Amino acid sequence: MSDKLKCSECTRLGRPCVSVSWGSLDKSRESLKASLSRDEEERDRLLERLAELQARLARNRKVLEQTNERAAAKLNCLVQEMEADGEDMTQTVIDASALEFELFPPAGSSSMVVQDSQNG
Ligand SMILES: [Zn+2]
Repeated sequence: MSDKLKCSECTRLGRPCVSVSWGSLDKSRESLKASLSRDEEERDRLLERLAELQARLARNRKVLEQTNERAAAKLNCLVQEMEADGEDMTQTVIDASALEFELFPPAGSSSMVVQDSQNG
């Protein structure tokens, strides 16, 4: 069929010779190595960034939790002050607090959480 030259090894094994030049193979290898290096560097950068993000997430979650607790405690103090003054300002305090902190105290930690069981 083919009159192409084969090396003795390929002739012996009855397979086609690799028909790509050394120059082309070398070029491919260099190019692939460079691509691998770039991707490995990029991966390392991303892993580093991921670790930073995870640390910051954990840190900020903790700070938010503490801030929530502080806000709940402050709200309780204000409510108790109002109650001590004999004024029914509960609703006003809750509204102001919601505006100021933009968050709600953890469930069950505040007098503003109403848990009616409406069983009939
Ligand atoms: Zn060959």
